[in-house]
Amino acid sequence: MAANDRCLFCRIAHGEIPATKVYEDDDVVAFNDINPQAPTHVVVIPRKHISSLDDLTDADAATVGTVLVRLAQIARDLHLEADGYRTVVNHGAAAGQTVFHVHFHLLGGRNLGWPPG
Ligand code: AMP
Ligand code: ZN
Repeated sequence: MAANDRCLFCRIAHGEIPATKVYEDDDVVAFNDINPQAPTHVVVIPRKHISSLDDLTDADAATVGTVLVRLAQIARDLHLEADGYRTVVNHGAAAGQTVFHVHFHLLGGRNLGWPPG
């Protein structure tokens, strides 16, 4: 599926909507969450528009794997790996998904309770 020009995160990836990007390459874009839930809260996305986890196919395996590898490097760049961090992907209404472009939350900089809310 090509980039969806009506999708908020596609528009951020294309630079059409401002965001504080902390990383980008040909496959992945990462930016600070506009409503941070921790001292560090970065949203990491594939440039490819995929609506949700439930829409993933085998063809997306490399894309999603790259997103996670980049996320781990971003966490190291932000010095989160020693104290720890959390990665969250919300799917659907019960989990509170609000943006339908698959994204990985990177949360760190405080102790994170378990189980999550
Ligand atoms: P989710 O609820 O898992 O779908 O996560 C969507 C996230 O996108 C939320 O944490 C929002 O705060 C964040 N968000 C929404 N609009 C923007 C924006 N314009 N720039 C950065 N983050 C955003
Ligand atoms: Zn999109």
